[in-house]
Amino acid sequence: AKCSAILHTVFSLSKAPRLPKAGETIHGHKFFIGFGGKGANQCIQAARLGVKTAMVCKVWNKQILSFSVAEFVKQSSDAVTGAASITVDDAGENAIVIVAGANMLLGAEELQEALPAISHTKVLVCQLEISPQTSLQAMCMARDNKVKTIFNPAPAIPDLDPDFYRVSDVFCCNESEAELLTGSSVASVEEAHRAGQELLKRGCGSVIVTLGPQGCVVLKGGESTLKHVPAPEVTAVDTTGAGDSFIGALAFYMANHPHMPLEEMARRANLVAGVSVREIGTQTSFPYRRDLPNEYF
Ligand code: ATP
Repeated sequence: AKCSAILHTVFSLSKAPRLPKAGETIHGHKFFIGFGGKGANQCIQAARLGVKTAMVCKVWNKQILSFSVAEFVKQSSDAVTGAASITVDDAGENAIVIVAGANMLLGAEELQEALPAISHTKVLVCQLEISPQTSLQAMCMARDNKVKTIFNPAPAIPDLDPDFYRVSDVFCCNESEAELLTGSSVASVEEAHRAGQELLKRGCGSVIVTLGPQGCVVLKGGESTLKHVPAPEVTAVDTTGAGDSFIGALAFYMANHPHMPLEEMARRANLVAGVSVREIGTQTSFPYRRDLPNEYF
């Protein structure tokens, strides 16, 4: 793959002095269209670091497909490609409407067609941008074939099927997802550690809770000591997509260095995501292998 762009969701982003009220039309000062969502972003970041990737998803029509480099992209005439309409005000507050569209129509039979890819890969990453049942099925397929799994419970849902914990080698979430899943506040390293312990108890192999500029905490089954992996100090310009850059990088390290300690993978993923926050955009800000020093590999 050339890895220039990949999508299963398109997004439009408008910047305006403030968010419009119901029924109101206001002038904005910036507009752009970009490619997402989380799965595509994570896939692109892993690919840019130098592994072969494939994405399993569903979009609407061939016109949009022509932008894509994915291998297992199904098409639907019953629903449009996923779309997100984002408005950001000058204070950084946002309002987002996501229409999942064709992504939610990816079902069991189509997933079976991707079995050859899933069973021969080293790492499978799933999120919740397709139906939870289909995600869970994909994770089970991976486990049956001894493929390592990373689960990113995003966008978060409160009543997550408990089987997701049991089929996750690495359960990787951000602060707000950890909060929603555990029902406890997650605003500090200590709170993230406590939430991580709770998630670990539910059956995951390991848990990573990302903490923005504070990096992440890493918890492995059977270990109770606090493992905080700080992020590098950088001047952040736009942190949108940082979590996806982190997960894409983590998948890269799990595939390429399966025996590397998880904390070291997390340390390197922090470094990669730290580069992504220095520029505006999501996929457009994700670094390529050539942009990073050799010691990252
Ligand atoms: P987003 O929803 O914006 O994509 P997220 O909330 O899922 O991100 P975060 O926890 O904010 O994920 O960030 C993921 C990783 O990105 C962090 O663990 C860290 O490595 C890096 N990161 C994010 N923000 C910063 C920052 N301001 N400075 C340095 N690193 C950062």
